Amino acid sequence: PRQNPFDTDTLTRVYLVGSGKGGVGKSSVTANLAVALADKGFRVGLVDADIFGFSIPGQLGIKDKPTRVDEMILPPVAFDVKVISIGMFLDDNKPVAWRGPMLHRAIEQFLCDVYWGDLDFLLIDMPPGTGDVAISLGQLLPTAKTIVVTTPQLAAAEVAERSGAVGLQTGQSILGVIENMSWLVQPDGSRLEIFGSGGAEDVAARLTTLSGSPVPVLGQIPLSIPLREGSDAGNPIVLSDPADPAASAIGEIALKI
Ligand code: ADP
Repeated sequence: PRQNPFDTDTLTRVYLVGSGKGGVGKSSVTANLAVALADKGFRVGLVDADIFGFSIPGQLGIKDKPTRVDEMILPPVAFDVKVISIGMFLDDNKPVAWRGPMLHRAIEQFLCDVYWGDLDFLLIDMPPGTGDVAISLGQLLPTAKTIVVTTPQLAAAEVAERSGAVGLQTGQSILGVIENMSWLVQPDGSRLEIFGSGGAEDVAARLTTLSGSPVPVLGQIPLSIPLREGSDAGNPIVLSDPADPAASAIGEIALKI
């Protein structure tokens, strides 16, 4: 592979978005954050490194495949975000059963052989948990910071903490914690806390202790039917319905990172 453009001297803000377990909305949040940042005029790249559970192309309505020019891969662009995903290289959506070295090589190619151009932000949608991909990215992206997505459920805090800790082991710092599915706004305007409360604060406190530097909660995103419908339809809610409470919460987080 050619030189890694995101090595130590990169000017790009590189964020690894992780979670302890699947289904907490990590990919939805990452896709919407990327689109929100691009909408604010930033140059944004998005790597879907959730190799086994890739969903970014669907969430952004991407059907195009990457094209090759000389030795480089040109990524499809959706909503002004350059996107690459393992799903774009598979025929018939076949499941991926790769071992560590193959995963490492794929991730390395995503970073080094894709024509990203100059980027302000590179967001990486990580597989849930800890594992080979996280370790590869730790080596390949020394300046990256981790964002942990969690639900309010306290029982999940410990696993979420571990996903933040893996970056610390490879010398990366933690940017903060995002709480998703925080509450449902009821017709009378009150909040129903379906998954309890305090999850993000708990994870942030644990990661603060573990890392020895303050880890903030970056924001709380409510449950939102339009958000879910938008991700299913490939229409990110931050553009299609910016007044939706979940969309505006994501927009505010984009201003903080
Ligand atoms: P993960 O990447 O953590 O596995 P996804 O982003 O794929 O999770 O989200 C899992 C499901 O939950 C998807 O169907 C998604 O549309 C839905 N979802 C995510 N966040 C929200 C939310 N705030 N409100 C409603 N549905 C959500």
